[in-house]
Amino acid sequence: MKTPVIFTNWKMNKTLRETKDYFDRFLISAKKYLGKTELFILVPHTALAMAAELTGNSGVKVGSQNHFWEDFGPYTGEISAAMVKDCGGAYALIGHYERRLQFHESLDSIHCKARASLRNRLIPVICIGESIEQRQASETEPIIKKQIDAIFKGFTPYEAERCYLLYEPYWAVGAENPAQPSEAQEAHGVIRESIRKSFGNQTAGKVRILYGGSVRENNVFRFLVQPDIDGVGVGRGGLDPDSFLRIVEIAASI
Ligand code: PEP
Repeated sequence: MKTPVIFTNWKMNKTLRETKDYFDRFLISAKKYLGKTELFILVPHTALAMAAELTGNSGVKVGSQNHFWEDFGPYTGEISAAMVKDCGGAYALIGHYERRLQFHESLDSIHCKARASLRNRLIPVICIGESIEQRQASETEPIIKKQIDAIFKGFTPYEAERCYLLYEPYWAVGAENPAQPSEAQEAHGVIRESIRKSFGNQTAGKVRILYGGSVRENNVFRFLVQPDIDGVGVGRGGLDPDSFLRIVEIAASI
């Protein structure tokens, strides 16, 4: 069985002071779950270098919530995967639903950003998912396949297996209720099968497919016991270190 991957995305939250307070509280208890979970926290760019220093050799890793696809140059306001790496980041979230919605990120830009992550030895956590309208029109499967084909276009099996996929149905992000674990499992099965078709059995077995969307301590167990769910991404449930630790504790006990 794979070690469950558990991460939280702080989004546009936490000052430097709050970052320090969070890690001071989180790291004391997080140590006991390492080895049983792969644990990382995606912080705002402004807090990344500090978060990397605070986590140090603890085994808890940090990363960014986005980066540009070029490494350096005249791209005012952007930061690159090279800079994330330089700050001590190990992971990068790519193509989050909120970025698609509010910043109009396309599948092509997500593809280029994933390439930049890999080039800079980050682990890209690539978001895919469908809208409620697409689900109601029974389009979840073709939409997921289309996203995977576009994002992984031209990737080698080795490159594909170094990526993590985060299935986040848009309608479950920041919502009152998550997807049903059975719905998530069905979508994860489609994702793994698409990877198998494009890259073969070995890559499909290795690639990490995570679920995100309203994960909390009262539902995380039901997601993690699904055969194709290799971990979870947590938003609101990770903003408080104690609440995130309870989720991590449950994951570590499986
Ligand atoms: C997210 O935005 O990626 C997310 C999963 O948020 P929440 O857990 O708050 O739904």
